[in-house]
Amino acid sequence: MTISVVLFDLDDTLFDHRRSVELGITAHRISLGGDLADADPTVEFARWNGLEEHHYHRYLSGELEFLGQRRERAKDFVAPYGIELDDDEADAWFATYLLEYERTWQLHDDVLPCLEALTPARFGIVTNGDLEFQQSKMRATGLLDRVEYVIASGAIGVAKPDPAIFRHACEVFGVEPEAACYVGDRLRTDAVGAASAGLLGVWLDRPGVATPDELTDASAAGVPVIRSLAELPPLLAS
Ligand SMILES: [Mg+2]
Repeated sequence: MTISVVLFDLDDTLFDHRRSVELGITAHRISLGGDLADADPTVEFARWNGLEEHHYHRYLSGELEFLGQRRERAKDFVAPYGIELDDDEADAWFATYLLEYERTWQLHDDVLPCLEALTPARFGIVTNGDLEFQQSKMRATGLLDRVEYVIASGAIGVAKPDPAIFRHACEVFGVEPEAACYVGDRLRTDAVGAASAGLLGVWLDRPGVATPDELTDASAAGVPVIRSLAELPPLLAS
């Protein structure tokens, strides 16, 4: 396989977003006191994840601004507890949560060994998000210096799984899609989207939650499934 450019998704592929979200929302909830502090951690973490998924999708589809999706998440999270936040209060609430979220930023353990093993390949990020915010995570974890380009949907107006964002990344690197692979933790948004643009799409299923239907879809799209980034260098060498 002649892959010279290896592109990655950021959140939950290289950057351990979920862990920081779980620690962040738990710490923030407890700091608020009252019923929220006493609530079930597993239930509240799942609810926060659901709200992120819902409102972030509204941002990616252009329905909400980046700050707007944060605001809606904050409002919806506390609403079942009889708390009503106005816009300014919701912004302040989210800013306090962010401090807790940012406190625990880290990469997954398999990232740096994978990049070492793949060198001298060229590296890039294609992410659905706000360019500056995504870059701040990469800067804090030492990742920013290790990649050539960061392609963020918020900066170019096209989001994964639209093949256009993957083709754009290849153009930025000056390579044909066949010379690039894309690795991400979401089968359809990441791997199948990239495959439909002509790249080798690779699905990183860290928790091993692939269903038989998903494995069929991955196979049909020519998408290899890996459980760890340690599997990527041998895959690309084969
Ligand atoms: Mg991801």
